[in-house]
Amino acid sequence: MSQRNSHETWEIVLGDLNGTNRSAGYRPADPIGLPPIFAWPMKPIRSVKWLLSEFLFPWGFIFVGLAVVSWNWLTPEIGESGGPALSLFVIIWLRNCALLSLVAGLLHWYLYSKSSQGAEFKFSPRWPSKTSSRFLWRNQVYDNAFWSIASGVTVWSTFEAITLWAWTRGIIPGASWSTNTGYLIAATVIFFFASSSHFYLTHRLLHWKPLYRSVHELHHRNVNTGPWTGISMHPVEHILFFSMFFVWWIVPMHPSVIILTGFFKGLGPAVSHSGFDRLLVSRRRIPAGDWFHDLHHRHFEVNYGNPEVPFDWLMKTCHDGSDEAQRSMAVRRRPHSSASGGAAS
Ligand SMILES: [Zn+2]
Ligand SMILES: [Zn+2]
Repeated sequence: MSQRNSHETWEIVLGDLNGTNRSAGYRPADPIGLPPIFAWPMKPIRSVKWLLSEFLFPWGFIFVGLAVVSWNWLTPEIGESGGPALSLFVIIWLRNCALLSLVAGLLHWYLYSKSSQGAEFKFSPRWPSKTSSRFLWRNQVYDNAFWSIASGVTVWSTFEAITLWAWTRGIIPGASWSTNTGYLIAATVIFFFASSSHFYLTHRLLHWKPLYRSVHELHHRNVNTGPWTGISMHPVEHILFFSMFFVWWIVPMHPSVIILTGFFKGLGPAVSHSGFDRLLVSRRRIPAGDWFHDLHHRHFEVNYGNPEVPFDWLMKTCHDGSDEAQRSMAVRRRPHSSASGGAAS
């Protein structure tokens, strides 16, 4: 292994530890660890700093701001009478489609069409396929955009429109920023971790063989991901993925956080699947791709969750990006490795 340049890019020359080459590409220098919120003894100051400056910054704050703007200016008036009107759904669908096209489209344009930073901070040396029969029209980007918009935005907007309508009608419990401020701030922060926990559980279910073959395989066609890969999923996976909205049918919430649920689940993956660890903008390195989830796309049987929740560490399915984790995974995957004591032989 050799360190390649000042951007901590590692060129992997270890060769094959698992039957497939670990391709050259950017790899963060440090292994992925559990966040300080799980440290014992507790580290409250370090935890708050991590939450505000690493976990929520910048994308969590951007989505919160976008949700506030959307609730106040980009969501139609919901009438006091009648069922969820078609116009409500259509306007929410158009707003979500426009925002996803803006976020995924801009990232794709900047990183792939314009190639603004070349392969710097790019996890995989490969670029989106334009010739693979695995994808609609043999084009990975067109395929991903189709599933994201036709199915993803539709399921997301349906859940959001019904939940907002039910909130307005008083069918589900509500909370107000003026009278429940502390509760809503705490609930919003907890929401991010609840959403990641929900993702782990539904994602783990999708790796059950029958569901994987018939549903989740569509998302995993993308070993090498891009911004449009984020919510490029089978409709059944979209239903599971966006079922997080149903939490607000039990837990009292404000509509801005209901909308935030859609942005975190619907727009967040465009950033985390961007394929680049950082965005280089005017000499600034903005956090982007999720190396933890990128390893899941490469190796399938590791990292079912996100690094802000401890499930993969508890279930021993964590791949922290290190060579040691790569070797452990290779040993686990060898037939009868447990019978031979688990050691490489
Ligand atoms: Zn993914
Ligand atoms: Zn998966």
